Amino acid sequence: MVSSIHRPTQAVVDLSAISRNIEQIQKHLPENTQTFAVVKADAYGHGAVAVANHIALQIDCFCVSNLDEALELRQAGLRKPILVLGIMLPGEIPLALAHDIAITVASLEWLERLGAQAITGLRVHLKLDTGMGRIGFRSSHETQEALDSLRKRGAQVEGIFTHFATADEADTSYFAEQLQNFKAHLSELRDVPELIHASNSATSLWHQECIFNAVRLGVAMYGLNPSGNDLNLPYPLEPALSLTSQIVHIKCLPVQQKIGYGGSYETQSEEIIATVPIGYADGWTRQMQGFQVLVDGEPCEIVGRVSMDQMTIKLPKLYPLGTPVTLIGTDKEQRVSATDVAAYRGTINYEVLCLLSERVPRIYH
Ligand SMILES: *Cc1c(COP(=O)(O)O)cnc(C)c1O
Repeated sequence: MVSSIHRPTQAVVDLSAISRNIEQIQKHLPENTQTFAVVKADAYGHGAVAVANHIALQIDCFCVSNLDEALELRQAGLRKPILVLGIMLPGEIPLALAHDIAITVASLEWLERLGAQAITGLRVHLKLDTGMGRIGFRSSHETQEALDSLRKRGAQVEGIFTHFATADEADTSYFAEQLQNFKAHLSELRDVPELIHASNSATSLWHQECIFNAVRLGVAMYGLNPSGNDLNLPYPLEPALSLTSQIVHIKCLPVQQKIGYGGSYETQSEEIIATVPIGYADGWTRQMQGFQVLVDGEPCEIVGRVSMDQMTIKLPKLYPLGTPVTLIGTDKEQRVSATDVAAYRGTINYEVLCLLSERVPRIYH
């Protein structure tokens, strides 16, 4: 998809805010904790290469979800360690080796599927399933067997990790259970790989008692609260992304005029209706009907259906074409966050950012 750069709709990314967020989080971590920056899914919609280039000197390793995301960073010239968090196809191991990309091994069956392929020098992190139920070893016997087999074949098993399912919740009982499982699993191994990591953003923010020696920071780095509005941040973070557009059409309509597909909205009196060039193909979903955007520092309702490329808003007065519209971000004293958008849509801030499509150009300050 081409990015629509000749249209006023933009995602403006403040890279220095991401840097300040990393500094802020690192200030609160135990000394000598490594920082793994999670830049999967195009850095949660912020642009993986731009983000990675900007923060490379602040962090120790990049995490991505698959080999293609790792190769994108290598092709952009990034030399830092990269860990693929998901399961790789066994046939892609030569590519991972050629580009010095660390892989995640999560089962013996996967190792068997590798067959006799050369894995000398391959960097590996072992994944333990301590209660997330997604990927990972569940028995320490199998983990030990994988560890021995990988080492015998010349792989470099440099890390071991797990992932928490409920680190962003006020009730910590399941978290404690998983932590207990992780510690027990590690204690049953004859020798434990050097890097031990269990902390995503939520764990890094709210469970500093269990930072082993590295953290995997995703959403918090981008300035968002992993819990949405459930838990308070222990220290402030700055959202790095704003979504803005402009009024491209405006009119004053008499009473009882229908707006948009289905005629689902009808003017209740004389109303000023403006059109903004963003729609569900940009990731601004149809559920946003009835939500508010900011114009001239004032919340204005989205009226009528959100269509593929355009939506309509109701304004208190006439504004000239080109007037800025803020969908995510601040305008004067008012602010709309990705978390507000997510709450309205019944989802999480992660999804709001990841859904912003390639059609929306990312502009960097
Ligand atoms: C995505 C992901 C992270 C980052 O999660 P955040 O909640 O964004 O910090 C960390 N670890 C794994 C295994 C992940 O898949």
